Amino acid sequence: MPETATAPARQAPAPGWQEEVYRRAGEVPDISAFPTVDALLADFHALAAEHPGLVRPRRVGTSRLGEPLEAFTIGEAGADGPAHLVVGGVHPNEPIGACTALHLARLLCDDEGLRRRLGATWHVVPCVDPDGARLNEGWFAGPFDRGHYARHFYRPAPAEQVEWSFPLAYEKAYFDQTTSETFALMRLIDDVRPELMVTLHNGEMGGVYYYLSREVPGLVPALHALPGHLGLRLARGEPEDPLAPLWADAVFGMADVRSHYDHRESLGLDPVGMVQGTSSADYASRHGTTSLVAELPYWSHPAADDTSESGRTYADVLREKADALGASGRELADLLAEAEPLLDQDTPFLRASRAFVPMFASLAEQERARSGAPDASRPARVAEVFDAEDLVRCFRLRYGGMLVRALGAPVAAGTAPALLRRLHARAVALYERWQEEAARLEGTELLPIARLVGVQVGSTLAAALALQAEQSAAGTDRPPSPEGSPS
Ligand SMILES: [Zn+2]
Repeated sequence: MPETATAPARQAPAPGWQEEVYRRAGEVPDISAFPTVDALLADFHALAAEHPGLVRPRRVGTSRLGEPLEAFTIGEAGADGPAHLVVGGVHPNEPIGACTALHLARLLCDDEGLRRRLGATWHVVPCVDPDGARLNEGWFAGPFDRGHYARHFYRPAPAEQVEWSFPLAYEKAYFDQTTSETFALMRLIDDVRPELMVTLHNGEMGGVYYYLSREVPGLVPALHALPGHLGLRLARGEPEDPLAPLWADAVFGMADVRSHYDHRESLGLDPVGMVQGTSSADYASRHGTTSLVAELPYWSHPAADDTSESGRTYADVLREKADALGASGRELADLLAEAEPLLDQDTPFLRASRAFVPMFASLAEQERARSGAPDASRPARVAEVFDAEDLVRCFRLRYGGMLVRALGAPVAAGTAPALLRRLHARAVALYERWQEEAARLEGTELLPIARLVGVQVGSTLAAALALQAEQSAAGTDRPPSPEGSPS
């Protein structure tokens, strides 16, 4: 719709909307497992059958392996009001959002009062990468310990991830190898021009944190307070993206590939290697879309929000992290290099290994460069030490596990030459050592899925209500899209 000065002012949400958000976030029923792709879509279709006219499924694309990609539009047909877009499965190893998408869709269907007060049309994509999600289904039903999760973990190579494969042209970086899933999401974004887009990500270990594309009035304090209402810790250690602006403890500005490019260049490192495509939030910004990501861990640890001093300098912590990543990366890189001539089948695990194994070395290089910065001589907080050490555990468990699966495929198929079989056995032995080391970490706490879903549901409602309040106060429709958005 074109921008008009005569657009009716939006009705403001009732004062104290934050309290409603906290209450609804706490009302998610217990969840014992993450749904498979088929179960999730069956639940959405059942919801559409229960609410004909209110829930309207449509196909928006096709996955690389031929699965239909579906969106479910929820709201009275022909209603005015903004469009909100909610996307699950943007990273297929992050299924909390599948439960969130379903809970939110049910809530919007069952609570007509809430739906009408929000005054929006909701477009929900339950799972935008079904091919990737299926490769994680081995851990979706538990047991929910980190070892089991890691053994059945799959994360696509960055260029194959929906989230980070939107087109980019910046300095010497150029990316247009957009996947069919990303292309479907691009078309959907351009079609509905969302006021709010929530991509449902999650982390793995530690505390809760968020990315928000701009500071909507009233939203940052609500996001900051929400996890505490559910008994969850905020992440107060090492940020996942050290370059993202910090708006409140654990509430960050959106990660931006261009700042990463500039940062690596300023450190004298190759800026192109670590930068591929850009994010969905960056792409949607051409429509003036506000984007929100709520990152939840499966496991928490008391150190995650411990801001006391550790007795070590931040520089030492970064150097130790760089050493550990460098050493582990070399072990995996040697295995992969020896196996390469014997691997004749291209699999998602092999493509992911080829992308992630070199990332140990490039991240080590980057952390070593950061450790030399003048401000790194400050004392490190306990939470920062924990996060730095845990990233090493995370990398070993995730990417070691994927290399084991990559080398194991021809072994399981009975086509592995003897040398490849020996390399696979060597990878398994290394991985078992890493699994045992990680299992020795004490004090981890498995978080109830319902509370994690509660944060995503609550933060999505908070963002919708804060935008409604902002637009109502401004007395106009949404601000115009910025001119000359990048493509
Ligand atoms: Zn993610």
